[in-house]
Amino acid sequence: MSADLTFLSIFEMQAGLRSGDFSCTELLEGHLQRIHIFEPRIHAFITLVEESARTEAKKADSRFVDARKVNQIDQLPALLGIPIAVKDLITVKDVRCSCGSKVLGNWIAPFTATAVQHLINAGAIIIGKTNTDEFAMGSSTETSAFGPTFNPWDTTRVPGGSSGGSAAAVAARMVPAAIGSDTGGSIRQPAAFCGVTGMKPSYGRVSRYGLVAYGSSLDSMGAFARSGAETALLIGIMAGLDKMDSTSAAQPVPDYLKKIENGIKRLRLGVPREYFIEGIQPEISNTIKESIETYRSLGAEIIEISLPHTKYALPVYYLIAPAEASANLARYDGVRFGARQSTGSMIDMFFDTRGQGFGQEVKRRIMLGTYALSAGYYDAYYGQAQKVRTLIKQDFEKAFESVDVIACPVTPTTAFKVGEHGDDPLAMYLEDVFTLPANLAGVPGIAFPVGVDSYKLPIGMQLMGKRFEEETLFQAVQAFQQSTTFHLQYPAL
Ligand code: GLN
Repeated sequence: MSADLTFLSIFEMQAGLRSGDFSCTELLEGHLQRIHIFEPRIHAFITLVEESARTEAKKADSRFVDARKVNQIDQLPALLGIPIAVKDLITVKDVRCSCGSKVLGNWIAPFTATAVQHLINAGAIIIGKTNTDEFAMGSSTETSAFGPTFNPWDTTRVPGGSSGGSAAAVAARMVPAAIGSDTGGSIRQPAAFCGVTGMKPSYGRVSRYGLVAYGSSLDSMGAFARSGAETALLIGIMAGLDKMDSTSAAQPVPDYLKKIENGIKRLRLGVPREYFIEGIQPEISNTIKESIETYRSLGAEIIEISLPHTKYALPVYYLIAPAEASANLARYDGVRFGARQSTGSMIDMFFDTRGQGFGQEVKRRIMLGTYALSAGYYDAYYGQAQKVRTLIKQDFEKAFESVDVIACPVTPTTAFKVGEHGDDPLAMYLEDVFTLPANLAGVPGIAFPVGVDSYKLPIGMQLMGKRFEEETLFQAVQAFQQSTTFHLQYPAL
């Protein structure tokens, strides 16, 4: 057994398990060993489920043994024995789901999210639940009631957020892949900060059943891995119509790996001028421009485009997301589940439970959102924001008449220091300028590493595609990663 197994790609893990070079148990133990070494410095996890993972690994090993006897290894499910982690905003039956909050106490989820169940059915082994900003509200994983996660590239810095635990776990080779959620950038931004690949699929592509609601019209579940192809493998398994989520789409899910090597000859790559604004770290804009040149050399046609309403994405998002959150979070009253606090009457119980259970940032969003929805203000705030959201959506529709993919930065800066935006929520919100539009428009976005800054911190690039055309994004990332090595770099922990 060797911890080196943690450096294999999922495809190499699949091959090694199939050929019997190592067992599921050895693969799992290699990852657990690495978690035990580095978790004290990274704090990627809120809950580890080592024992159930060991049981599952043993079962998977017997399935390999049985299949080998009858020469049916090829019939085994794709992810059999592959360890993965799940953001602690997504339910796994019989495992605590905290959402990074105290308000849920030790709530044990009574069911598994549909997309996670698809992964389990495909043989994946859940290793644990990863740290998140409280109810996914944040861009640094610092608002978690369980304390921050640290960036494996520099542990004085944040991993991004809110799916910071998942991104850090993949970057630190604690797991080959992890599941996250993205309401305004929570997969793409931490992927960029941690130097891994992360995809937020189209709204409706992956069922939201079992994803604890933040902003229901914006939330999507997606995945992190070390490459676009591995991410494609996961998303292909997670995606699909689900009767438990009426917003999930009845769109056929292609086999994303089938044509992933198709290349990008004549791909029309749009570069939106509004995404190269003043204030962006120059190393980021320069690196993105170089990466666009790489795309040109690979055969893409580069076209300058405009998404004129981009500047409204931030105010629109920060009205819509808190408004929806204030409604979604009304259920945490301590009555049926979660950590009830009580000093007296029923009303006191509500006040105490919510007052003590929620952290600062969540309370700020609930107050902003409740105000935006209140009588007399609804039309001026939430209603108006919805109208501008339509304009942002139309920007994309128009752009996608002349391009196939849009290329831009993920973040205006590389990973910032822990505590840097501590007293400044606006500075924190500004971290999301380039990721919010995809959620507002419902289109897919993928972030992947394309360079490093002078501190050797990863720089990510974002590609956005037409709704339900994740396949094109995977092909474009694959073309890039086949001809470069940025995705193979890892932090020297
Ligand atoms: N940082 C954004 C927010 O705080 C996005 C978070 C997310 O995508 N969940 O709302």
